[in-house]
Order: sequence, then C-alpha cells, then structure tokens
Amino acid sequence: MKRITVIIPFLNEESVLEKMYERLTLLADSCCDYRFDFLFVNDGSTDQSLPIILGLKAFDDRISVVDLSRNYGKEIAMLAGFDHAQGDAAVVIDSDLQQPPELIKEMIVWWEKGYEDVYAVRKERKGERFLKKWTSAFYYRILQKASKTNIYPNAGDFRLLDRKAVEALKTIREQERYTKGLYSWIGFKKKELFYNADERAGGTTKWRFSSLFHLAMNGVTSYTTLPLKITTIIGGIVSIAAFLYMMIVLVQTLLLGADVSGYPSLMIGILFLGGLQLISLGIIGEYLGRVFNETKKRPLYFIDTYYESKSPLSKKEK
Ligand code: UDP
Ligand code: MG
Repeated sequence: MKRITVIIPFLNEESVLEKMYERLTLLADSCCDYRFDFLFVNDGSTDQSLPIILGLKAFDDRISVVDLSRNYGKEIAMLAGFDHAQGDAAVVIDSDLQQPPELIKEMIVWWEKGYEDVYAVRKERKGERFLKKWTSAFYYRILQKASKTNIYPNAGDFRLLDRKAVEALKTIREQERYTKGLYSWIGFKKKELFYNADERAGGTTKWRFSSLFHLAMNGVTSYTTLPLKITTIIGGIVSIAAFLYMMIVLVQTLLLGADVSGYPSLMIGILFLGGLQLISLGIIGEYLGRVFNETKKRPLYFIDTYYESKSPLSKKEK
C-alpha cells in the first residue's frame, strides 16, 4: 500500500495544532487506499506546541515529530520535513488551517494520473491586510519578469510532491532557500488546483515584515542577476551623459573662457553619482553576502530530537 507523508512545519501554534490534527485524521480515515503519516516539524516553538504534539503522538503512532534545535524559518523547516518524509508522496501544509486538508484528496487523484507536483493555488486571500496583498502581487510581477524560472504568484507551499520531486528538492542544499522557486526549477509534471484560503484557525501570522523582505530578496538574488545588469546599464548611461556634458563644458570654456560658477551642478553631480555608486555597491553586496553564506557550507539545520513513528509504517516496511 502506498504511503503519503503530510509534512506540517509549525512555530508557536498551540492554539491550532489540535484542530489541525483532527482535520488530518478525518481526512486520513475517510480517504482513499493510502496510508497516511503525519510529520510535524517543530521550528523552535517556545509555547506549548511541542508538548501538545507529543501528547497526540502518544495515542497515534502515525505521528512523527522532528524537533529542530531552534527557529530556522519555514523554508528550512520544510527541508527538514522532506529529509525525514518516508512516504511515496509528501504533502506540505501549513499548521494554521488556512489551507483545507480536504484538498489533499483531490491532489491524490491527480497524483495517480501521473502528475508529480500537484500544487494548490489560492483563489482569494481572506483575512490578509491590503498592504500584504498588494506588495506580494507587485513583487511576483517583478520577479516573474526578471527571472527565467516560472514562479506562480499564488501557489504556495501547499502541494503534493511525488517521491521523485522530494528527492530532487533534498539534493538542493542552499543556505538561502527560496523553495517556491525551487519547485519550478526542479521541473516534473505539474498540475494546478484551486482553493479558497480560510482565515487562520487561531494564533497569529509568523511573518514579520523584515522576514518577508528577506525572503523577497532571496527570491530575487537566487533566481536572477538582473539587478547587477541594471546597475551596469545605469552606469553606462550616466557615463555617456557625463561625457556629453564634459564636451559642452570643454567647448564653453575654450570659447568663453573659464569662470568659477558651476557649484550647484558640481554638487548635484557628486551627490547623484555618489548615490548611484552606493546603491550598486549595495546590490553587489547582496550577492556577495549570499556567496559568502553558501561557501561556509554549514549544515542547514540541527535536530534536537527526532520522535520517529514506531508503527509498522516506518522504514522497515520499505
Ligand atoms: N512557520 C514555521 N517557521 C517560521 C514561520 C512560520 O514553521 O519561522 C510555519 C507556521 O507555523 C505555519 C506556516 O509556517 O504553519 C505558515 O506560517 P503563517 O501562517 O504564519 O504564514 P502566512 O499564512 O501568514 O503566510
Ligand atoms: Mg498562515
């Protein structure tokens, strides 16, 4: 019998984990000819989330828990999930019930038809502030234009991945992960499903603006070097303009003689160019920083404890 591992990364979700578990068991009991197991990845929660999950695990051996040594962020937590998933397919789902677990049934149907990456696209975003919706729409438009990889704006991490795709993702050990882009980068046959996102079942969003900004930067820097090219182009344009201006000044000086005026244009030139130089240095720095981080080749995460499922569902079966 084929197995499906549901990967649920969580950070401080004490108010929703039980509800999440209930919905998942309902699904597993009502669905299809597959065995489900639930792989919870604790991404450094500081509340009662871990004890709650371990409590559930005591009664349900389909649950296994990877307890990371600290908070690494959802991207890394998901990777830890892929590393430990044992199923023939893996489903990644948020713990906050914004994504309906029932959709997994439909994903499985498409998986059976041979699709290796069945991803869910959000139709509307309930309970999200206007600013977040708008910035995210704008960001994906830009990213899509700038990078050669297709990144589907409203497709998140909620998806079913065939073992082949999971293995592919596992081989990519980038420090600064941007999994959303990796899904399309690895290829495989993809199928798109739609769903309406619900509001969080409890708790609050874990994204701070700063972390979103960081993720957004990762998205750009790991998929395109366009910003570097743009700085080159701007540099070229400014140089040409400066050259033309030099000619004008030269001719003027030769014909009319030198006078000491020109302080404003001098200042404007210096400040404008100084600004441009700093911006391009910053852009180079962003890339360089990432190169630096990758060359350190540090392990991507450490595990505090791995509470493996002891049921016959575990490795032995393979
Ligand atoms: N999450 C995580 N580590 C983090 C941040 C978030 O494991 O550092 C989990 C979180 O518990 C949830 C999922 O990632 O299960 C999505 O987070 P959230 O709902 O806060 O994001 P949003 O839906 O607001 O984009
Ligand atoms: Mg959420």
